[in-house]
Amino acid sequence: MSEPAWPAPPEGICGLPSTLETEVAILGAGIHGAALARELTLRGVPCALVDKGGVGGGTSQWSSQLLHGGIRYMLTGDTRQMREGLAERAAWARIAPSRCHWEAFWMPHRYWVEGLAHRVGIGLYDHWGAERPGWPAELRLGHVPGGAFQADPRSQGGPFRGATAYADLMTWDRDLTKDLAASSQALLLDFHEPEAFEQGEDGLRSLRLCDRRSGAERQLTARRWVFALGPWTDGAMARWFGETRKRLRLSSGIHLWFDPVPGCERPWAIRRPKGRILFVIPRDGLLQVGTTEREVEDGWVPILDAEREELFGALEANLPAIPWRKLPVRAEELGVRPLVAATGATTHLSREAVLERHDRFRNLTLVLGGKLTTARALMDRLATDLTGLRCEASTTAPLRVWDGQAPELR
Ligand SMILES: Cc1cc2nc3c(=O)[nH]c(=O)nc-3n(C[C@H](O)[C@H](O)[C@H](O)COP(=O)(O)OP(=O)(O)OC[C@H]3O[C@@H](n4cnc5c(N)ncnc54)[C@H](O)[C@@H]3O)c2cc1C
Repeated sequence: MSEPAWPAPPEGICGLPSTLETEVAILGAGIHGAALARELTLRGVPCALVDKGGVGGGTSQWSSQLLHGGIRYMLTGDTRQMREGLAERAAWARIAPSRCHWEAFWMPHRYWVEGLAHRVGIGLYDHWGAERPGWPAELRLGHVPGGAFQADPRSQGGPFRGATAYADLMTWDRDLTKDLAASSQALLLDFHEPEAFEQGEDGLRSLRLCDRRSGAERQLTARRWVFALGPWTDGAMARWFGETRKRLRLSSGIHLWFDPVPGCERPWAIRRPKGRILFVIPRDGLLQVGTTEREVEDGWVPILDAEREELFGALEANLPAIPWRKLPVRAEELGVRPLVAATGATTHLSREAVLERHDRFRNLTLVLGGKLTTARALMDRLATDLTGLRCEASTTAPLRVWDGQAPELR
């Protein structure tokens, strides 16, 4: 598997000594690794968080930034996954209020029968997701009044006759990941490249790391190991241990960020073929549009013209009154979803995560797949499995807000 240039490390030094010992070594500081570091800290268990790049510098900074029940599961009938997401949404709103922002998403409909189906489905979604700490009283759910719908330029000249509003939670994915890491007391070894593992009787024992800032070497010893390497998992297992089994299928998705369009106030979620949703979300002074699905072979892949075209095509077909191709694109992003391997198209693969105990290294667990939304719950479960300790505070203890300082320089 090829590895295009990994982002260069920033200036600065890592003040940690050259030999380190901890209870749990976590490789990968995305949302899963950072959430696990917080869970272990809440349980009083020492850990180290290692990443070849920065905290939240992988897939966890290129998502659609929604902590959601997954309205698409209403379409695919996966109500169990949806209800888990809805419960987790409430937990995030409690522990990370400053990184969460409730919104009323409008789902437009073409015909009244479709509108009726949306009203029923969305009614159920919002009923199951009725726990919404901090919900702003002025946001309205359910039927969108005709006047408000007509006033939105997205309703003009297109196929839609009306809309139904449902609740979901927006976040800032990379900041949330950094807050999780800052809420832990993990030894932070960011910008450290894993070089060679040493095995002991029970499995993995220690790891030689190269500090990418200075070239210094560090040796990390731990009793337990967790790999939360997102879409880079299969490549790393092949390089480090010669394993060729594919645990994941990878699917890229892009977002385009346009200049704001006056009158586009609420986020829209437009149903597309194959159970997909086209999001058009005003946020941070811009208009975020996404996303696509393309099966890929690596965690680093470029954006293809065909992906951009797919988004432009969907925008023009659904929202023709806005001159999309003339609007400046302020940024474009591509993220790679790690999906648990199974047969079939990636659009139909489950977004559920799997925790795999390695069959040869019994003290190693791999985190496969998953979502931002369920990362806390999954890592709560893993931390309980690893330590035998439950932790009620996981769903209530507020996150420490990352203060902009690299954690190791604090
Ligand atoms: C387009 C798109 C939209 C999405 N939208 C949503 C959404 O709205 N809501 C939602 O809940 N989920 C969403 N997801 C899913 C979610 O973003 C991911 O499932 C999640 O971010 C994965 O987190 P992770 O911690 O497993 O992986 P990552 O965030 O990728 O973390 C893995 C880490 O491992 C590090 N690493 C890799 N290789 C090595 C190595 N050799 N040594 C050391 N470190 C290494 C990387 O630098 C990285 O920091 C979306 C995903 C995509 C792609």
